[in-house]
Amino acid sequence: MTVTRFAPSPSGRLHLGHAFSAALGHHRARDAGGKFRLRIEDLDPSRCKPEFVEGIYEDLAWLGLDWDEPVLVQSRRTPAYQAALDSLKARGLAYACFCTRADIAQSLTAPHGDAATSYPGTCRGLPDDPARRASTPHSWRLDSARALEFAGLPSWTEEDGRTFAAKASDIGDAILARKDAPASYHLSCVIDDAASGVTMVVRGGDLRPSTPIQRLLQALLGLPEPAYLHHALIAHEDGRRLAKRDLAPTLAAMREAGADGPALAADVLAGKLPLGFGFSDA
Ligand code: GLU
Repeated sequence: MTVTRFAPSPSGRLHLGHAFSAALGHHRARDAGGKFRLRIEDLDPSRCKPEFVEGIYEDLAWLGLDWDEPVLVQSRRTPAYQAALDSLKARGLAYACFCTRADIAQSLTAPHGDAATSYPGTCRGLPDDPARRASTPHSWRLDSARALEFAGLPSWTEEDGRTFAAKASDIGDAILARKDAPASYHLSCVIDDAASGVTMVVRGGDLRPSTPIQRLLQALLGLPEPAYLHHALIAHEDGRRLAKRDLAPTLAAMREAGADGPALAADVLAGKLPLGFGFSDA
């Protein structure tokens, strides 16, 4: 059975790009008689707000896109993430990192458009120091060299059948968890896709650089391999990316302006975008 998912972060109102992603995932699932799952990616306490969770439900309902229960809410999934992290630690595949760099702050959110963040390995190979861990904020990183030794370079297949092989340079010592969050985007994403039985990950092409590390984590954790549908992005006609801080293309603003939700969902799916917007490659 085909199972797709839509996994927004409640850090702002949904915009036209989300409508396309959700409509595509919904269409693929319904067309195949499968399931369309909703996941709230709310692990970043500094950016996620409850009112935006409400906004997600409201906007999807307005678009006429129904989802199959239960909704998976990441902030309620700590034990599952902890178990996966423990298993990586037990196999020597994760190490404590005491660096406080700005890039660590970004690890909880999907890195749209960014290549794998490179980490110089400052804390890799430090002797384990439980006393320091008890007294110092730290994160956990994947020891990617050991992970690759263990699982080999991953590959992934797009739903059109093309298979891509990851290169070692696509994969760094990704953050797995932080003191204030039980899992990073990459770790939570693979655990939850598996928990929801997702067979096809439908998301914007700007998240393609996340796929090698996520496939590696799936291999390490013995999780099934989904197919991937990385789709074109919707941008302003002048090429600017849609951002959550843009007011104009939020679905809430379009609804206020009298737009018809299901018609909008059908139009974006058919490639007909409102004036001022266009598709762009990631
Ligand atoms: N939560 C991510 C976002 O806001 C999506 C991650 C994914 O689809 O893998 O775009």
